[in-house]
Amino acid sequence: MTQQAFGILKDDNGRRIVVSAFCCNGHPLVSEENPCIDDLATIHLRVRSTTGETDLYLSPIQGDPRVMGGDQIPEGELLDVFCPVCGASFEAVAPCYCRHGMFIAIYLKPDCQYREAVVICNSWGCKHSFIKLESRIILSSL
Ligand SMILES: [Zn+2]
Ligand SMILES: [Zn+2]
Repeated sequence: MTQQAFGILKDDNGRRIVVSAFCCNGHPLVSEENPCIDDLATIHLRVRSTTGETDLYLSPIQGDPRVMGGDQIPEGELLDVFCPVCGASFEAVAPCYCRHGMFIAIYLKPDCQYREAVVICNSWGCKHSFIKLESRIILSSL
C-alpha cells in the first residue's frame, strides 16, 4: 500500500482505500472499532429514512458498493445522512447522475473542505460515487 493523499491509500491492485474521513466538526468516521470489509475498517455514517434511524458502515474501497446495515430501507429512498457522533449533516454538492439523489461530500481531512472528499449518492441503492483530490474529480474504474 502507498499513500496517495491524506486519507487515501492505493493498494497493489491500484484500488484507492479511504483510511480517514470526517464530519464538519472533525469527528473521525473510520475507526478500528468499526466492522471490517475485506479486513479494512469501514466508514461509519448514520442515516434517517422513513424506517427510522440506522447505522451504516460503507466499504472504504473506491467504487465498492458494499455496505453493512440498512437492510430494511426501501430501494431508492432518499436518506438524510449525518455524523454518528454529533448529528451534523454532510454537504450536498451536486445532483447525482441517477437524477434522483444528491451527491453528499464526506471530507477526507478534518478541515471540512470539499477539495478532498469521498462523495456518495443519498439515494439508497444508487452505486454512484467518486473521490475528489486537490479539487479534481476521480471517478471509479469499477
Ligand atoms: Zn460529528
Ligand atoms: Zn444516485
